[in-house]
Amino acid sequence: MSEPKENVLMEKIVSLCKRRGFVFQSSEIYGGINGFWDYGPLGAELKRNVKELWWSGMTRLRDDVVGLEATIIMAPQIWKASGHVDTFCDPMCDCLLTKKRFRADQIEPQSGVAYFFTGAKDATSGKQSNDAFSVLLPAGKPPESARKTATQFYQQRGLATVELLGERSEKVENSQRYNPENGAQLTEPRPFNLMLQTFVGPIQSDDNVAYLRPETAQAIFAQFKNVLETSRQKLPFGIAQTGKAFRNEVTPRNFTFRSREFEQMELEFFIKPDEAVEAILGSVATVPETGHPGEPQPNWGWQAWHQYWVEERVRFYEGIGLSRETLGFHRQSAEELAHYARACVDILYKFPFSKRNEQGELLGEELEGIAARSDFDLSQHERFSGKTMGVFDEELRTAWSKLNDVKKQSISERYYQARLKYLTKSGVETAKAEKDAKEDAEGLAKGQYIPHVIEPSAGVDRLILALIANAYSEVTTTDDKGKSETRVVMKFHPRVAPIKVGVFPLLKNKPELVAKAKEVFTSLRGHMMAFYDDAGAIGRRYARQDEAGTPFCVTIDFDTLGEKPELLNTVTIRHRDDGKQERLPLTELLGWLQARIR
Ligand code: ATP
Repeated sequence: MSEPKENVLMEKIVSLCKRRGFVFQSSEIYGGINGFWDYGPLGAELKRNVKELWWSGMTRLRDDVVGLEATIIMAPQIWKASGHVDTFCDPMCDCLLTKKRFRADQIEPQSGVAYFFTGAKDATSGKQSNDAFSVLLPAGKPPESARKTATQFYQQRGLATVELLGERSEKVENSQRYNPENGAQLTEPRPFNLMLQTFVGPIQSDDNVAYLRPETAQAIFAQFKNVLETSRQKLPFGIAQTGKAFRNEVTPRNFTFRSREFEQMELEFFIKPDEAVEAILGSVATVPETGHPGEPQPNWGWQAWHQYWVEERVRFYEGIGLSRETLGFHRQSAEELAHYARACVDILYKFPFSKRNEQGELLGEELEGIAARSDFDLSQHERFSGKTMGVFDEELRTAWSKLNDVKKQSISERYYQARLKYLTKSGVETAKAEKDAKEDAEGLAKGQYIPHVIEPSAGVDRLILALIANAYSEVTTTDDKGKSETRVVMKFHPRVAPIKVGVFPLLKNKPELVAKAKEVFTSLRGHMMAFYDDAGAIGRRYARQDEAGTPFCVTIDFDTLGEKPELLNTVTIRHRDDGKQERLPLTELLGWLQARIR
């Protein structure tokens, strides 16, 4: 459970988001729709900035990553191949009394005394219900309260004067089988598929079912061959995509953190299997468990690439204002990993609503997962589509012919075992799996393999919420008369700040100041998001921009117009975070700002 103090902070953040136009509830005028959120003017700018930075960092500034923009609805077979149709489920259960729905695995474990009833009888009509029911009470609470809850349960089943039957009690430790709000028993957990369905075409039949994509990644795999053939990329290389994803989350919560419609920024980075690297270069580079492994090297295997992408992603977060101290890391254990995954590191942000450890420190919630997914994804699409997803590697073929027999045998055997494991785990019967794995190992010797993949998969909305929570700060000032006022200052990194610069004439009623200020504003707005404001006292205008998170404000005063000749065509720039001001010639203004927002 979160501390009340943290909830207060979240409430302040949610209220600021609405008040200043960062985030609104979707369809608010109709009472909203659970799990859907809209971004207002400031939120839309913030989101664009984040996506732009991710996109340019991932694609334009790299030689080895290209972009893709695929459709939201794709052939439903894609979701069969990816496993989403069969296994993309959360366990769901309902309160037997109130019908409230819960994610079974997210219920806070509770201890106490459980009261069990085998059924109940209607004392007047003699009607009987044989539905068993139980109620959990915290230790020390009188059993009467459990009986009251049970009576309500049987009343809902049509009994008027309830006489409870077969009562017994038992101590219970850390149970997730009861509604934490009223102690009533929950239904057995049942799997609930999170994909949102629709129909394509006019006939609403099973044949026309399609899904709104639950992740953007699958389109990248499905288009892998087209991209490879048209982009002139060679392994290792990546394909990046941002876009909407939809999940029918059982319990959307924590503001935008768990939504039903959200955006993802995903990279699939395709690499050679370690066996191919070893055949070409003699060995695969070893890497330290933590720390940046440096510039990519030809002898990198999946471990080095995985570590590289974890560190690159952390650098990205640091570069937009989330320091390492605000982040957490979770390396999935062998039990948590999917059967095909080699490793997965989640990058967490310490949200105000995050759980705490025993020392009271915030643990954080997932912003992004970086997974080493072996060759699972492309292999699945090869099996389901019947189209080859493998690549031919001339370097490997040449290198293979120069290997001695012992090395050939050892590499082949390892590749064979890895392919056999994938095939049998995917349900291919043993004889066929052995035959196919043998063919795959023979293919490797001829320079053919299915690429492996490292997948950094981030959520835009969670990152926006992290940036907002991270930026939120309160400043209390006391005026000459001793009156104190607390204001919000959103300390966004200038790179992501929705508005980069506010431009103000000192006074609204002096046409020459207004004309000059508008001229400055016009000269800046083509280069960055600028905001012109002449309403109210200058202090209030600064305060409004502080709340929007604008890092710089430029004021045009009489000196700009030459009242002090030596200050002609200079302006004051005020810094949001410390309120300090400096004077700058107009000719330098654009360059000065650009250097700070890049
Ligand atoms: P979680 O365990 O929190 O449900 P996940 O592990 O299922 O997340 P992935 O499938 O790895 O998430 O998706 C990649 C990223 O997409 C997540 O790290 C997160 O940032 C984002 N994401 C996933 N589900 C949601 C959601 N319901 N609302 C907002 N963002 C989401």
